[in-house]
Amino acid sequence: MTAPPAPAAVGGVHIKYLHHCPRQLWLYGQGYRPEHRSELVAFGEVVDATTFTRRRDVDLGEAKIDWVTTGAVVHETKSSRAPSPAHTAQVRHYCLLLERRGVAVRGGTVHYPLVRRTVDVPWDDTARTRAEESEARARTVLAAPEPPDRLGRADCRGCSYRDYCWGDD
Ligand code: SF4
Repeated sequence: MTAPPAPAAVGGVHIKYLHHCPRQLWLYGQGYRPEHRSELVAFGEVVDATTFTRRRDVDLGEAKIDWVTTGAVVHETKSSRAPSPAHTAQVRHYCLLLERRGVAVRGGTVHYPLVRRTVDVPWDDTARTRAEESEARARTVLAAPEPPDRLGRADCRGCSYRDYCWGDD
């Protein structure tokens, strides 16, 4: 008897997309990558590359963490001006992945350099449960045979997948 296939690795981008729009996660899982052409993403990469120069990326394979400071605090930098639940969910997922590797994680911080703001992300039993639930939901969406429904048009503003979802509508 052969072993069942290992579940697909769920990275930080998967979790961010899940919380933004499950359909976006599904499309991403299918290999759709319009964000390579997005000026917004390119701008974000510039912010990312110039804001913090003394950090060190932590590459977990399925996820690349911006950097981790002493005491295991996970840091994530965003080019947007508005904090989002998707960003905190992404950091919680990194905490979960690190903890599974035996790291005693203390928590996380999301940095918004354009507005000079930070948002702390606690790491405790509740956060762990939420991270595990998000991961399970992401796996369910990725394994679905059909894409989830579109969000309302107003919620799609600024999404790099808009052309695919809405065409010329
Ligand atoms: S365009 Fe709208 S429905 Fe399509 S992936 Fe983006 S947010 Fe989701």
